[in-house]
Amino acid sequence: MRTIVWFRGKDLRISDHRPLHDALADGEVIPLFVIDPYFFTPARARELPHRMQFLLDSLRALEDSLSTRGSRLVFVTGKSVEVVPRLVEEWKIDRVVAQRWVEPFARERDRRVREALGAKFELYEGETLLPPGTLRTKAGNPYSVFSQFARVFGQTAMIGTPLPAPRSLPPVPETIRALTTTIPTCEELGIKRNPQVLAGGERAAKARLRRFLRAAASYPERRNRMDIEGTSRLSADLKFGTISARQVWVACESALDGTPAEHTFLNELVWREFTHSTLWDRPELLEKPFRSAFVGFPWRDDEERWQAWVAGKTGYPIVDAAARQLLGEGFVHNRARMISASFLTKHLLIDYRRGEAHYMKHLTDGDWAQNNAGWQWSAGCGCDAQPYFRIFNPVTQGKKFDPLGNYVRRWVPELRRMPARYIHNPWESPDDVLLAADVRLDATYPRPIVEHRPARERFLVLAAGHVANAKAESMSGDPDNTRTPTVYSRT
Ligand SMILES: Cc1cc2nc3c(=O)[nH]c(=O)nc-3n(C[C@H](O)[C@H](O)[C@H](O)COP(=O)(O)OP(=O)(O)OC[C@H]3O[C@@H](n4cnc5c(N)ncnc54)[C@H](O)[C@@H]3O)c2cc1C
Repeated sequence: MRTIVWFRGKDLRISDHRPLHDALADGEVIPLFVIDPYFFTPARARELPHRMQFLLDSLRALEDSLSTRGSRLVFVTGKSVEVVPRLVEEWKIDRVVAQRWVEPFARERDRRVREALGAKFELYEGETLLPPGTLRTKAGNPYSVFSQFARVFGQTAMIGTPLPAPRSLPPVPETIRALTTTIPTCEELGIKRNPQVLAGGERAAKARLRRFLRAAASYPERRNRMDIEGTSRLSADLKFGTISARQVWVACESALDGTPAEHTFLNELVWREFTHSTLWDRPELLEKPFRSAFVGFPWRDDEERWQAWVAGKTGYPIVDAAARQLLGEGFVHNRARMISASFLTKHLLIDYRRGEAHYMKHLTDGDWAQNNAGWQWSAGCGCDAQPYFRIFNPVTQGKKFDPLGNYVRRWVPELRRMPARYIHNPWESPDDVLLAADVRLDATYPRPIVEHRPARERFLVLAAGHVANAKAESMSGDPDNTRTPTVYSRT
């Protein structure tokens, strides 16, 4: 049997890799990565520089792991829906195995490959702990409430034991070797390496997990603090599959063994499951809000304020720190993401989809399911979202979760000499304090571009009106509201 193990960018590891593991039991194995010219061009790479850097690092690490075990990662250029069926013919392949993706565009890709290859194409689970779409309410519907999903997940999920990395691999036949290409570098793709972006690859992911587990007992107390590294920083690894969710889950269970930290951390992994399952069942969420009350919401085209939010010049230090952390290191602390997304949508009334796309461009962990869920949650329009009437106050959030102001000091250095008492609200600071900190409002740092209280009221009035209208329409049988979700067939 000759098998292509098709690595596709969300499974960039050799341990706990079921397709690789199964293929090895059956004879010749050709590890393949397709370099799609749509994705690997300078123009496209510039649209997602941090993810591209992490991906290239991870591919190189995967190539090393395979080579040291006697195999090789084969790179071929072309569109995967065309290339893979062609290689199956040319290389006389018996089957192609790969890990399933959840996104609607990826499912369409897989449908087309399946159409061409039929039973020779085999998709495996592994992106998530449970196959998305597994859990159903008693009425047979997808869950819309996280706590219910999490409860049933806890009762149902059998996590199992991660598979070890293979010790050795069969060599790739010489004839195949000749047809392949090499992986491009950041320079070839026209992107400058950002040293702040986490190192990609399986070994780096495992080191991050080990480091996190050493301090994980304090996760519940530290996870919301933006000024300290209190979280795992495994999100990009989970996104690119340099570590599997199962490996993280099992390592956490054994290290934290029944402690509150175990519960709190695993709960976050269940959130990840929820977002993936939700996108599986409701692929239309990449286009429109979950809550129909927000369809047609009067978002504003406010270019000036949008640019201020992007550049981190809104005058709200915590919002600005988040914006600059995103551009600076391709990561934003979860609490800062929530504050920042809430500010864009609720204070500035700018469409969450614009913020979502901006995050997808710059986040190293940018993931369609989680990012979409995060933005819809923050805007109040998502599946089990924060209620629209809860509006974060950026000053009180800053004082609570960055109490010394060190997160702001790191990312908004023009405020670094402000005392903790005023660092989240410099415009309320006495003149002598501003003078001593060398801050000149409107010169070295802006005043707030909107006032919190009136902005809050404006959003509340608008959103309440929309929610009331939607309710009235649904009672009169609005088809959009009563629509059953699209369920795509499993590929
Ligand atoms: C507006 C917004 C956008 C977001 N976009 C993304 C994104 O593109 N990619 C992404 O991975 N996460 C996203 N999140 C969720 C969360 O912010 C990140 O997963 C987290 O900050 C990553 O840091 P960590 O790995 O140290 O998290 P930890 O606290 O260590 O959590 C462990 C893992 O659990 C998962 N997780 C944690 N929080 C959430 C959550 N709220 N929803 C779903 N999964 C979660 C992640 O996979 C994370 O790596 C977003 C949240 C918001 C509010």
